[in-house]
Amino acid sequence: MMRRLAVLGHPVAHSRSPAMQSAALAELGLAGAWSYEAIDVSPDEFEQRARAMPGEGFVGANVTVPHKGAALVLADSLSETAREIGAANTLSFTEDGIHADNTDAEGLLKALPTSPQGEAALVLGAGGAARAVVWALLREGADVDVWNRTELRSRNLCAELGGSPVSVPDATTYRLIVNSTSVGLCGEDALAELPLSTSGFSAGQTVVDLVYGAAPSQLLAAAKAGGATVVDGIEVLVCQGALSLEIWTGYEPPLQAMRAAAREDKGRADD
Ligand code: NAP
Repeated sequence: MMRRLAVLGHPVAHSRSPAMQSAALAELGLAGAWSYEAIDVSPDEFEQRARAMPGEGFVGANVTVPHKGAALVLADSLSETAREIGAANTLSFTEDGIHADNTDAEGLLKALPTSPQGEAALVLGAGGAARAVVWALLREGADVDVWNRTELRSRNLCAELGGSPVSVPDATTYRLIVNSTSVGLCGEDALAELPLSTSGFSAGQTVVDLVYGAAPSQLLAAAKAGGATVVDGIEVLVCQGALSLEIWTGYEPPLQAMRAAAREDKGRADD
């Protein structure tokens, strides 16, 4: 019987995960036995849809916006990472019930060129993605400051997970900057909306933009021009997706095939 996998989101038609994961399954020689598809499911229908999946041949699912919190709630068991972050992006349908995991945090760490241990890091945002980023960087021993447009949310996030909320960060003083806001997704100018300036980047810094889409990231273009090392959202997507694939199949993920497929699938964007 075909072992089915899917990404659940709303909307989800733009997702790069089906192309990326299908390429991985083909590369592993599993294309005839495993499949991966996108399923658009509204928040109202999420729980019922997810609970029906094991009976339809599904063995796992990625979960994206806006269902990462709901995925955590419906699971019968949680990884420690998912529990501590408070969100799940990977579900496994097992004989013992639904198990929830979070590969966003580990995916971010794998996408970084070097360990953030001991480094001053600035995380922009306080939504679901920022929670995973802050949790991951703190676990690795980074010194984390968090800025958010709505300051109450960054204060609450730091009270819960750790890190220090900042109101007016001097971006030039950080070795690592991670944009975990959704700024740039709909073409917004990150350098206008976020506490960053075109001339504020330098060699020795690493700048990560979780957002990616049809257009190249203006933020990463400016960071690169200033001499910083840049990591785009597709690389983070690939790293978190690879970890999910390994959880479901037990196989070592074919990263190059996944990267190529995610980057080829132009005009689409998701996490
Ligand atoms: P979310 O929970 O909706 O949070 C959105 C965040 O963006 C909030 O901190 C919000 O600030 C901020 N924001 C929105 N518009 C803003 C603006 N104009 N100026 C300043 N801040 C603004 O979303 P999420 O789940 O954290 O995801 C955030 C982004 O990361 C999305 O674009 C998602 O696609 C991407 N992502 C990528 C990956 C990957 O693998 N590459 C993984 C996860 C997420 P307020 O609190 O003030 O509203």
